[in-house]
Amino acid sequence: MTHTLIYPVHANHTADGHLEVDGCDVVELAHTYGTPLFIYEEKTIRDQCRRFKDAFAACANDYEIIYASKALPIIAVFQLVEEEGLSLDVASGGEYHTALVAGFPTERIFYHGNNKTRWELEYALDNGVGTIVVDSMDEMDLLETLLAAAGRRQRVLLRVTPGIEAHTHDFIQTGQIDSKFGFGLAGGLARDAIERAMASPWLDLWGLHAHIGSQIFELGAFRSEISVLADLLKETREAFGFECRWLNAGGGLGIKYTADDTPATIQAYAEVKCRGLREEMARVDLPVPRILVEPGRSIVAKAGITAYTVGTVKKLPGIRTYVSVDGGMSDNIRPMLYEAEYEVMIANKVDHEPDTVVRVVGKHCESSDVLVKEARLVSPEPGDILVTPVTGAYCFAMASNYNGSCRPAVVMVNNGKARVVVERESLDDLVARQRPLRSES
Ligand SMILES: *Cc1c(COP(=O)(O)O)cnc(C)c1O
Repeated sequence: MTHTLIYPVHANHTADGHLEVDGCDVVELAHTYGTPLFIYEEKTIRDQCRRFKDAFAACANDYEIIYASKALPIIAVFQLVEEEGLSLDVASGGEYHTALVAGFPTERIFYHGNNKTRWELEYALDNGVGTIVVDSMDEMDLLETLLAAAGRRQRVLLRVTPGIEAHTHDFIQTGQIDSKFGFGLAGGLARDAIERAMASPWLDLWGLHAHIGSQIFELGAFRSEISVLADLLKETREAFGFECRWLNAGGGLGIKYTADDTPATIQAYAEVKCRGLREEMARVDLPVPRILVEPGRSIVAKAGITAYTVGTVKKLPGIRTYVSVDGGMSDNIRPMLYEAEYEVMIANKVDHEPDTVVRVVGKHCESSDVLVKEARLVSPEPGDILVTPVTGAYCFAMASNYNGSCRPAVVMVNNGKARVVVERESLDDLVARQRPLRSES
């Protein structure tokens, strides 16, 4: 390969200069299944699951790795991570339903969310949810009512807002005091929530959950988070005898989207968390709880790429060249939401050096529909298959029908074989749930 770009993990190139992922020619896949197309390497998803398990097995006595499904909530991936022994985190009734259809063991499901509705809670309770992560007093009221009616107890964790600010984009920070998530430490809310849950005949409080954000590069924030949680555990042990069996001092490991990103390794992430927990628990003289870890992005992001077809190349003399692809913000809204950056390459020209700087844009009716502001490409032309690597997390999951787009297909590749795991939406799908005012017959 001639470029210093980010490549799919099992990338190669064919004799005719096409990008290949795990033995499948990307140009052929694009022509067979159409574009935009999400292509995932099964091996990479499995490898990431194993790296998390190995890293925590090496430093923790008791741990549980939980796939945060919102990054890519599809049946095929739920089945893969289940086979790899991971548990599952869902954040809605819809994700819970997908997990049920995938046959995921419900005992290993954690149900999150700051506004779980009554039907969602009922659906999870009726279908054997293992753990509910309670986010507010109102939720506690509702949950207690439902459990009292059913006459049974439910394992819960409480989500606590630790007041730690991770260095990441504002929109993906979650641990700051001014947050819609969880019970704040400020004002004693978290302490009150623990006291109340312990007193409830219906809630079986097993521990705490915290989360400080996503795409985190500086591991030091985790130590601060654990330290703050340790203080809370000490205080509530002394005040009400609270015993924390499971602790999730959460926050997502950053991943490499572009050559400039330098994320920590999974091992370093595990070591900081394990050592932090051991030392902080020793400091407050409490037993070390099971450590829960919830990776989403770092399981699926680098396993996925998106393939597009170039439609137009518009040269504005003295300004710039716009290369338009047949997708955009309807299949990857992250550049517009978080100023996320991606690299890009032409799958049918990977054996040439890039010679042009262009702006890669989507086909939507918004000027903000820019996928890559400054892309170095090999003389882009209509018909080229353009690929953005590392689109495996939060791209398909956030896809929309904007401008009447049919959401893309998802293909999984493994050792030269490709399988469709999500069909492309059809034009009929687009209008299937619409009811006309007048019948045209
Ligand atoms: C989003 C989220 C995750 C996953 O975060 P990633 O950065 O994708 O690993 C885990 N836990 C909670 C509570 C989340 O909201």
